[in-house]
Amino acid sequence: MSSSGEIDELRSQLTELLRKNPMGLTNGQLERHFGANKLLAIAQVLNILLDSKRVHLYNSTENPNELMYKLVAEEQAQKFEGIGPDQMLVYQICERSGSKGVWIRDIKAQTNIPQHTLTKTLKLLESRQIIKAVRSVTSKSRKLYMLFDTVPAKEITGGPWYTDQEFDHAFVDELQKSIVNFVKTAAKKHGEPFLSASDILNKLVSSNIIALNTISLDELILVMHTLVYDGKLEEVRNASLGDHLAGSGTIIKYKVAKDYDPPNFLTETPCGICPVIAQCREGGIISPTTCVYMNDWLAINYDFSEKNGLTW
Ligand code: SF4
Repeated sequence: MSSSGEIDELRSQLTELLRKNPMGLTNGQLERHFGANKLLAIAQVLNILLDSKRVHLYNSTENPNELMYKLVAEEQAQKFEGIGPDQMLVYQICERSGSKGVWIRDIKAQTNIPQHTLTKTLKLLESRQIIKAVRSVTSKSRKLYMLFDTVPAKEITGGPWYTDQEFDHAFVDELQKSIVNFVKTAAKKHGEPFLSASDILNKLVSSNIIALNTISLDELILVMHTLVYDGKLEEVRNASLGDHLAGSGTIIKYKVAKDYDPPNFLTETPCGICPVIAQCREGGIISPTTCVYMNDWLAINYDFSEKNGLTW
């Protein structure tokens, strides 16, 4: 048994060593560092650190049969006071799940902890702000557990387009209006007929419409696509425009789409403005087959017999 002075000295050396190795150290690495003659004293120190939760024990990712010791920050260790082995196991599963989180059924399958105990364990870890529950935008009824300080992955939060798991229509509408305005203004006032997605992203940030790094270029390009599909912007691709898409050699810039008034096909057909439509029926006195309006209209607007070889 080592003296208390020796234990204190080893404790501070071991703590410092683990601090410098945040990915953790194995028994073999500790033995190589301190020497075989210190192993018993190191085991004593490790037990003290494990009891006070300053050190957590993990299975090595390279060799699952090997144990690793990782240092835990002092304030974090206080949160673990009185935490038992089952609770530690649940914590470690949440930690391994990273930013994607883990479903309660998966925790249960990995631990075999009964449902009632698992529910209590999760509540305790949540109340100590060790873990948190997050709902995914793709499955709002399913809670995913992850470490309290972990930022959930975009697949879980839905990225910048979602606020509190709901699609943020107001934000997306505002963004679309601003983008169209930028493209219009650039063409009218600054003589820039085309803007690239990166030009627009810079303008959105410099105008304080979005904060820096809240939307990536790829995410903005998704919005640009919606504007193109809605007929508000048009893509312009030309190798001489000067802003290449990575790797493709193709340039994509945007210009305001020309206004397009679709014809009103209903009022342009005789039936759309027919005064006797109520009496018109196949086989009746007034019918599409004998309709003079229809015959005139077809003769004027489209000659089926000539263009398509159809006969009437
Ligand atoms: S087919 Fe002729 S008569 Fe019948 S509704 Fe159309 S225009 Fe009127």
